[in-house]
Amino acid sequence: DSYTPAPDRYDRLPFRRTGHSGLRLPEIALGLWHNFGADGDPGRSRAMVRRAFDLGITHFDLANNYGPPPGAAELRFGTLLKEDLHPWRDELIIASKAGFTMWDGPYGDGGGRKYLFASLHQSLRRLGLEYLDIFYHHRPDPDTPLAETMQALADMVRQGKALHVGISNYPAAEARRAVALLAELGVPCLVDQVRYSMLEREMETATLPALAELGVGAMAYSPLAGGQLSDRYLEGIPLDSRAAGASPFLQAEQITPRRRQTLRGLHDLARARGDSLSQLALNWVLRHPAMTTALIGASRPEQIEAAVAARRSAPLGDDELARIDALLAR
Ligand code: NDP
Repeated sequence: DSYTPAPDRYDRLPFRRTGHSGLRLPEIALGLWHNFGADGDPGRSRAMVRRAFDLGITHFDLANNYGPPPGAAELRFGTLLKEDLHPWRDELIIASKAGFTMWDGPYGDGGGRKYLFASLHQSLRRLGLEYLDIFYHHRPDPDTPLAETMQALADMVRQGKALHVGISNYPAAEARRAVALLAELGVPCLVDQVRYSMLEREMETATLPALAELGVGAMAYSPLAGGQLSDRYLEGIPLDSRAAGASPFLQAEQITPRRRQTLRGLHDLARARGDSLSQLALNWVLRHPAMTTALIGASRPEQIEAAVAARRSAPLGDDELARIDALLAR
């Protein structure tokens, strides 16, 4: 069945300028870390990507290693681009990254020029694209001079293989150095992808203020803490949830009685304002002035619908924010 995107796709979701750049990104973006590998159902992957674009999600986030196996998510998204979305390529912001272990030997990991270029070329082949919209260095590499990594990113932009570049998981001081090095090379750092949610607030101390000051966009990944900030775990561990599955990144032991109590309190607060817990969690992340986009994951199209619908609720008031802080501090 051939795909035609919904004509009203730009009526649903607000866009925000990414830092001081000219690029506007949707407040909700879809990441393909989980559920798009060889173990994910291809029909469901297709339904999620179509639904996302129909709802105005123009931004899809990948990395070289997303799978399993590594590379599989890019291959699947490449197929979906070819079969469904390619006519709308100019409406899409497609990102990938390199920085974690990808292949054997000294050039398959880290932040060296050889790895970053080889990985970018592989990603473009898997995706069937001529250029990426955003290429990220996925994590800092203490063994490679930061200047080499940033030079490689700047050269990708100069060669037209990436329109923008970004960083991820850099501590605040290194993020500042990276942003300064890129600026010297005439290539602005577009965005920093940070782990940020109601359950993980470390970024508030140094990184988010630095990004706001520097005019670099902040993109919050895992804004639902992998799905904890939803109604999924209020009672038990559903069999079809991430915590019940093979992902090492969310395990049932993390849902302690104390955690569940916090989640229940947040759930009640969310219901009182007409949101679900996951919707509250997204609205909370997006209240931060440094934030451009909440980068969600999904295992089914309805979760993407719920995320986009969250942006129709009223902004969080100071009293609600104070009650959330109190619940999180317990
Ligand atoms: P989230 O915190 O948004 O968790 C997503 C998971 O939450 C879904 O897969 C689903 O899990 C569950 N969920 C989502 N919506 C609902 C809902 N309405 N009701 C109930 N459960 C829901 O994000 P991820 O951890 O998946 O990360 C998102 C993206 O961020 C990644 O795909 C990746 O692109 C990026 N990322 C970047 C990193 C980096 O180092 N730069 C690191 C990690 C992520 P379930 O299977 O239980 O249904």
